[in-house]
Amino acid sequence: MPDYRAPIRDIKFVMQELLNCDQHYQALGYSDASEDMVDAILSEAAKFTEQVIAPINQIGDQQGCIWSDGVVTTPDGFKDAYKQYVDGGWPTLSQSVEFGGQGLPHSLNGAISEMMSAANHSFAMYPGLSHGAMATIEAHGTDKQKQQFMPKLVEGSWTGTMCLTEAHCGTDLGMLRTKAELTDDGSYSLTGSKIFISAGEHDLSDNIVHIVIARIPGSPEGSKGISLFIVPKFNVKDDGIIADRNAVSCGSIEHKMGINANATCVINFDNAKGYLIGEVNYGLNCMFTFMNAARLGVALEGTAATEASFQGALAYAKDRLQMRSISGVKNPGGPADPIIVHPDVRRMLLTQKSIAEGGRALLGYLSQLVDVTHAEKDAAKVADAETRLALLTPIAKALLSELGFECTSHGIQILGGHGFIKEWGMEQLVRDTKISCIYEGTTGIQALDLLARKILGSKGAILRPFMTDIGAFCQQHAGNPEMAEHIQALGAYSQQWQELTADVGKKAMSNADEIGGASVDYLMFAGYVTLAYFWARMAAVAEDKLKNSDEDKAFYQAKIKTANFYFKRILPRAKGHAACIEGGVDSMMALASEDFAF
Ligand SMILES: Cc1cc2nc3c(=O)[nH]c(=O)nc-3n(C[C@H](O)[C@H](O)[C@H](O)COP(=O)(O)OP(=O)(O)OC[C@H]3O[C@@H](n4cnc5c(N)ncnc54)[C@H](O)[C@@H]3O)c2cc1C
Repeated sequence: MPDYRAPIRDIKFVMQELLNCDQHYQALGYSDASEDMVDAILSEAAKFTEQVIAPINQIGDQQGCIWSDGVVTTPDGFKDAYKQYVDGGWPTLSQSVEFGGQGLPHSLNGAISEMMSAANHSFAMYPGLSHGAMATIEAHGTDKQKQQFMPKLVEGSWTGTMCLTEAHCGTDLGMLRTKAELTDDGSYSLTGSKIFISAGEHDLSDNIVHIVIARIPGSPEGSKGISLFIVPKFNVKDDGIIADRNAVSCGSIEHKMGINANATCVINFDNAKGYLIGEVNYGLNCMFTFMNAARLGVALEGTAATEASFQGALAYAKDRLQMRSISGVKNPGGPADPIIVHPDVRRMLLTQKSIAEGGRALLGYLSQLVDVTHAEKDAAKVADAETRLALLTPIAKALLSELGFECTSHGIQILGGHGFIKEWGMEQLVRDTKISCIYEGTTGIQALDLLARKILGSKGAILRPFMTDIGAFCQQHAGNPEMAEHIQALGAYSQQWQELTADVGKKAMSNADEIGGASVDYLMFAGYVTLAYFWARMAAVAEDKLKNSDEDKAFYQAKIKTANFYFKRILPRAKGHAACIEGGVDSMMALASEDFAF
């Protein structure tokens, strides 16, 4: 199993040098988030994730969770690690002071979540889901609900879930059958069965707060008749004290490809007591609070997996001696050269490195936008941040999860046969990270959300602010010869992004299937250009540092070289996606469903 080391230097580069978090926090009134405080928290988080969370990753995979008669036991070490997580105050970090939180910025929590997920994807999901549950209750719950549920969730002694999926409905939530009937005391009685509920039952916390979608009898069919409920495992008195057991039970857990240490549960509601959140039939609107937070969390999982795999592969590639370099011996004292000298191994390592660091920069930017939506007073600035988040969230979720899967596979390949052997831990990363392409809306669904609903739905308006940013950056660096190649490429690709949008929009007027035919390629095109923008920005910061200081030269030079690799070897993938989009949908639909055969 590769030893995880939190990439603190790079995290700080993104937060402090690229995104000026100090200034950003002060402007938003996060007065406690001084540079010293941020440094201290990051280094404590690094210690915690390296020393407590990472060491139980492999055993968690091997043992998995165990279900017996409705009770779920997590693998060895998980309970103790979760207790340490709560005792260390980690769940409270970015939560509201009003409910016992520390009120620190969400973006700081985002950096810590990356470390948690890279150290142990399964473990990180338990608090990750609580985060979404808290965001939903805080945004849409009544004062009483907040008082009842928030303090314990914030403290971490209770955890949360998100209960959407049913056996016959995953993507198409409008088909849900779980029923919620109003009772005499104003609460609801929920009946139905949910599947695939992450952290639905476990032994880490005293109570589990399920956020559940259900239909109230008489509500419209489809997605217009969905309401949202809080359904606790144990009922909760008005003052937040745990009472009797609610009629919620775990029918079984799934045996699956990865994230074995995170319990994926069938959760049955048998006239369970639930409390409406938000308005009747507006459940999906409220649920989007949960889903948007969760989608960024999943994007982060892809980046975290890439980082973890890169670390394992890099150590191996420096150590493993095989064959001589074709351009001359590099290790004359040894029987062969280390495999890191071979260009193809470098192709894979640099793909991992450039995706991990590029993804981190994109996510750092997005989590600062989340800070703005929480703490900014100026409504216009909040609206602007929301527009950018709406555009970039599906891109980040789908791109970074798909690339996480690709990059963890490179991790296996770099280790050769050893990568295929469980002991090395590289194959676990592939198995664990595949789910990120599926849950919280598959890649296909993210792509439709981006192209159909957001971009074409707004007639391209949602793209403008981000395109303006790219244009302004290109202009700012127009006279800088060191940046010339990046700026030229960025300008051309962003222009092509807009042209592709117009072309698909035009074609879709005569055949609506053109949208679905183009959508995933469109998202990947957009994603590679988005990462190129962040790589160009990082290169500009690194150039500047090298010009003005003698400190950390190797780090900044590596940044520039990795940016060059990204522009030369990764960004051109966008051309393939553009060609596929231009190829249109006809060849996909020509074969009739009944003529598909094997
Ligand atoms: C380990 C695990 C954990 C999970 N955790 C949770 C959880 O905590 N809470 C929860 O509620 N759910 C959870 N899920 C469920 C997950 O969110 C769903 O599996 C996912 O949304 C896809 O739904 P589905 O499996 O029913 O696939 P389907 O909806 O049947 O989709 C199958 C395929 O068809 C494609 N497809 C469907 N419709 C379209 C369309 N209109 N256009 C293009 N392609 C389409 C999809 O992209 C996909 O490739 C989890 C699942 C797993 C496996």
